[in-house]
Amino acid sequence: MECIFCQIVAGKVPSEILYQDEEVIAFPDINPEAPVHLIIIPKRHIPSLAHLSEWELPIIGHMVDIANQLAKRKGVSESGYRLVISCGKEGGQLVPHLHMHLLGGRKLSDTLG
Ligand code: AMP
Ligand code: ZN
Repeated sequence: MECIFCQIVAGKVPSEILYQDEEVIAFPDINPEAPVHLIIIPKRHIPSLAHLSEWELPIIGHMVDIANQLAKRKGVSESGYRLVISCGKEGGQLVPHLHMHLLGGRKLSDTLG
């Protein structure tokens, strides 16, 4: 198993698990770009948004729900935050396992790439 995020799911790469249920886990980004920078992923290995089947779409809503809860827990719900899902090479996706970034705790750039 080569996927770094699958290895986190399997407990083979250590991470501080901030949330998990049957479908989803969340952990801090190892290279944070903001005071709050968390990663929310489906446990199932889905390579990217472009690989999502129609029947898998509800996982995105679930990830947003968890991100909103974590934003509250981390104290950025009022100040504001950004959820980002990059897809593919030109979308800036480096880890080929679908993931959502939760960024907050500072004023984020006004531009989107
Ligand atoms: P992306 O560019 O959207 O593919 O983002 C991948 C993110 O995963 C980057 O922000 C990395 O810092 C983060 N990352 C890579 N390896 C780990 C790890 N072992 N634990 C936590 N975050 C990681
Ligand atoms: Zn994976």
